[in-house]
Amino acid sequence: MAFNKRVKIKTILDQNPIGSELTIMGWVRTKRSNKNVTFIAMNDGSVITNYQVVADPNLISEDVLKKCSTGACLKITGTVVESQGSGQASELNAISIEVLGEADPEKYPLQPKKHSLEFLREIAHLRMRTNTFGAVFRVRHALAFAVHQYFNNKGFFYIHTPIITASDAEGAGETFKVTTLDIANPPRTEEGAVDFKQDFFEREANLTVSGQLEGELAAMALSEIYTFGPTFRAENSNTTRHLAEFWMIEPEMAFYDAEDNADLAEDFLKYLIQYALENCMEDLKFLESRLLDEEKSKPADQRSELGLIDKLKFVLENEFVRITYTEAIEILKRSKPNQKKKFQYLIEEWGADLQSEHERYLVEKHFKKPVILTDYPKEIKSFYMRQNEDGKTVAAMDILFPGIGEIVGGSQREERMDVLLKRMEEMNIPTEEMWWFLDTRRFGSTPHAGFGLGFERMVQFVTGMGNIRDVIAFPRTPGNAEF
Ligand code: ATP
Ligand code: MN
Repeated sequence: MAFNKRVKIKTILDQNPIGSELTIMGWVRTKRSNKNVTFIAMNDGSVITNYQVVADPNLISEDVLKKCSTGACLKITGTVVESQGSGQASELNAISIEVLGEADPEKYPLQPKKHSLEFLREIAHLRMRTNTFGAVFRVRHALAFAVHQYFNNKGFFYIHTPIITASDAEGAGETFKVTTLDIANPPRTEEGAVDFKQDFFEREANLTVSGQLEGELAAMALSEIYTFGPTFRAENSNTTRHLAEFWMIEPEMAFYDAEDNADLAEDFLKYLIQYALENCMEDLKFLESRLLDEEKSKPADQRSELGLIDKLKFVLENEFVRITYTEAIEILKRSKPNQKKKFQYLIEEWGADLQSEHERYLVEKHFKKPVILTDYPKEIKSFYMRQNEDGKTVAAMDILFPGIGEIVGGSQREERMDVLLKRMEEMNIPTEEMWWFLDTRRFGSTPHAGFGLGFERMVQFVTGMGNIRDVIAFPRTPGNAEF
């Protein structure tokens, strides 16, 4: 038998092959013994459920059973029998156990008890072996798969936009530099500045903050495209919603206006939620019960009204609210926390940038539904957003989700060369460097639109995890790149 002729625990649970002799491989979650028998709970990551193995000390040596401690990796051959106990349909009567890898019980950090998420972050190399992180990463996988399935079904093409770029798409300057220069002793120009002409790319380069600009180039040929890749922002914001390295999904569509863009985004988000409900129910049920436990320690008025699964269904079954920035400002001005000066940033006049406290008020208190906010003042948005007739606002759209805040940012793009050039000059965006981007407006320009979905924020919403560091395997945040 080849070494990997094993049966996954998920397959056994799905097929319930009573009477079969087969081999499983996985890690011990718990072991308990009495005089006559040892029970080993095995998990191989294929499914949240542990599988019970029953070992008879007359068949399996004492030495081997001793090594079957929490965390050890085992190869077990046995017969599937109907379970004696309740809670499972079948169990495995062990015929032989091979210890593939021991785990010293004195040193193994993941003992079978409740560990805090903070502690588990410090052992991120092992935390995937817990129920919570197993569930999170199976759901994350399912959502990533659903992203590709959604766009493939709609005839969008997946474009791999570059990770190293010379442009800072947003002009926000929060980029990580990419260089092979000796940073202790870089070559200098006559004026004393670092001479990037001698660098690898013969210019300054950085990690991408968005694939949008290159995505636009592709949409001007393939009509409907999307990117799904890593994105890097050196923003020093230590929040539960920001990572320095995150994954973003950015569709970009020719022949779409702002309304088409919002329709697509709402349909897409609902598809992802539906996919998780159809394919990840066991993991979602576990995550829901985990959240309930967590909520018990909160004061009653801070507990959420809906459980995780009901919350997901609620979003599926209701239309997102669509309002303009101007309407939102009116609501916020009149709101209790604004009147009673409870907001950290009070909303006084039109033009104010919305902080996450305002976004969350709109979504969680006022509408209690996802909200699509449109038509922001041009001063607080990027140069490439299409200017509206009023001369004051642009065709931007942010989608706000309960518990998350902004999950999607997008816009109809400015396709008119003269308007775009004027705006770039006003905002001091170097037009010569962007000649390739502007060429799309010179040659065969058309109305088009797109948006960016932060993948981790979506995984947070679907799994109910409160901290973005707990939905990516190895989070990168300020001061943090250990694993
Ligand atoms: P925020 O105001 O929350 O920082 P943003 O306005 O910078 O977001 P965009 O530039 O519009 O966001 O990016 C599109 C999407 O990418 C956001 O809606 C969000 O879901 C996600 N996103 C942005 N920054 C981060 C980050 N640092 N970590 C994780 N996701 C992010
Ligand atoms: Mn940001």
